[in-house]
Amino acid sequence: MAEPAELRALAALVDTRDDEDTLRAASVDSGRIVTRKPRALAAPRSVPDVVEIVRWANRIGLPVALRGRGHTQGGQSLTSGGVQIDMQGLDRIGPVDEERQTLRVQAGATWREVVAYALQRGWMPMVLTNNLDTTVGGTLSTGGVGQSSHLHGTQANNVDELEAVTGDGRLLRCSATENRPLFDATRAGLGQFSAITEARIRIRRALPRVRTFRLLYDDLGVLMRDQAQMRLRRRFQYLRAWCRHRDHRFLGEDDDWSAAGEWSYPMDVSVECDAEPDEAGLLAGLHHRRLLSTVDRDIADFADLPEPVPLPAARHAPLSLSLPVTEAYLPWPAAAACVARVLERFPRALLASTNVMLRPLGPEPTPMLMLPATGHILGFGLIPYIPSSVLPFALPVIEHAGRLLVAAGGKRYLTGWVRRDHDEWQAHYGPQWMTILRWKETFDPNGILSNEFIRYRPAA
Ligand SMILES: Cc1cc2nc3c(=O)[nH]c(=O)nc-3n(C[C@H](O)[C@H](O)[C@H](O)COP(=O)(O)OP(=O)(O)OC[C@H]3O[C@@H](n4cnc5c(N)ncnc54)[C@H](O)[C@@H]3O)c2cc1C
Repeated sequence: MAEPAELRALAALVDTRDDEDTLRAASVDSGRIVTRKPRALAAPRSVPDVVEIVRWANRIGLPVALRGRGHTQGGQSLTSGGVQIDMQGLDRIGPVDEERQTLRVQAGATWREVVAYALQRGWMPMVLTNNLDTTVGGTLSTGGVGQSSHLHGTQANNVDELEAVTGDGRLLRCSATENRPLFDATRAGLGQFSAITEARIRIRRALPRVRTFRLLYDDLGVLMRDQAQMRLRRRFQYLRAWCRHRDHRFLGEDDDWSAAGEWSYPMDVSVECDAEPDEAGLLAGLHHRRLLSTVDRDIADFADLPEPVPLPAARHAPLSLSLPVTEAYLPWPAAAACVARVLERFPRALLASTNVMLRPLGPEPTPMLMLPATGHILGFGLIPYIPSSVLPFALPVIEHAGRLLVAAGGKRYLTGWVRRDHDEWQAHYGPQWMTILRWKETFDPNGILSNEFIRYRPAA
């Protein structure tokens, strides 16, 4: 526990707050399941500020947790009694490097700000998540999966260089050719080894408009075959799909979803364009039962399209909603059967307010992001929007679904609701576990960074 004099020493270095309102807001993340109250919140305005905070924490032996905007759902950015570092003050963006097709961004900038900056200059980041309020440092530390991940993998896979402060307070640059172990540990590293302060992200030229075709499938296997083809032929830059129960309606939807069976599988496929696209050519050879709709959008509006929210959740909107997201990457050959098994066992009462997301993942050589060892991978996500009062009943059921996904050879995506003991963490990382322990020792020898999520040692 930091003494008042030590906190005053921190406050002399950087903007530090410990009033009740600040601490209450810093105690929860988007999941609204875990509460951990920090001792104080430090808000760096510059890279040297981050160095000072981390060195201060090492001197007095107090943990720090890094926070972008707290969009995780399992307490990943929280600390009980430590100092939370609010990275939002590091928000500088630019310049674009046209030759290398990269953009410099500080870690606290939101992807909304990055997209606005890039689009003004005719560029787009390679991958965007569904939620543009996330920060660059936050998603590079978790992975960052989105509608173009079938082609480009994660955001963490589309960064050429990072600047980061290690857990023992060293400010370093790292990339595939410089300080490689730090680069590999930091991308999708959940803030366990270093604090990202700046990134050089990859960008590409963008076209002004996006056309989206909403296709309806009756069969998951057929949809997956088309997804695999889209990955290979690279016809669509963007792709998102869902499993949808007959009783399940999205807020504001007026499409006719009528399905032959209990489930239907809608998929949005989109292309950027500056002229009329060849619709017949784009859709040729696909096996959807029906084309539900065709929509044109300005690319900025398209980038900011939120995930549709299920109706029952919207009805509960004034209540406190929890979001115990359970997402995993499944080996392609086992995926359809695994999805069917999980959905069969998922209570209908929860299903009505749960989005079920399907997103294939392309090439992904990011060492900290654990994936099944198959060429093709399907991302499967249960996104339940449920009143917090229902959690005691719902969490065991949702955790069971998570275990089924792992039993089928899946690897959990770690932004969601994840509760594990030491052995389960070791199993998750598999052969990478010993490397992780070595990186922890090298970059954060005092165990200062985010030490309440991954269990590095068995419980005493
Ligand atoms: C509505 C909603 C939709 C979402 N959609 C998607 C999606 O489509 N795709 C997807 O991949 N994710 C999605 N997410 C999850 C989100 O992208 C991640 O949870 C991630 O947490 C980023 O959010 P953040 O920037 O607020 O970071 P935080 O949640 O604050 O932090 C995330 C992790 O990164 C660490 N961290 C934060 N900043 C830094 C830093 N500068 N250096 C090192 N470590 C740091 C934290 O300690 C924590 O472990 C969604 C979340 C919500 C709530």
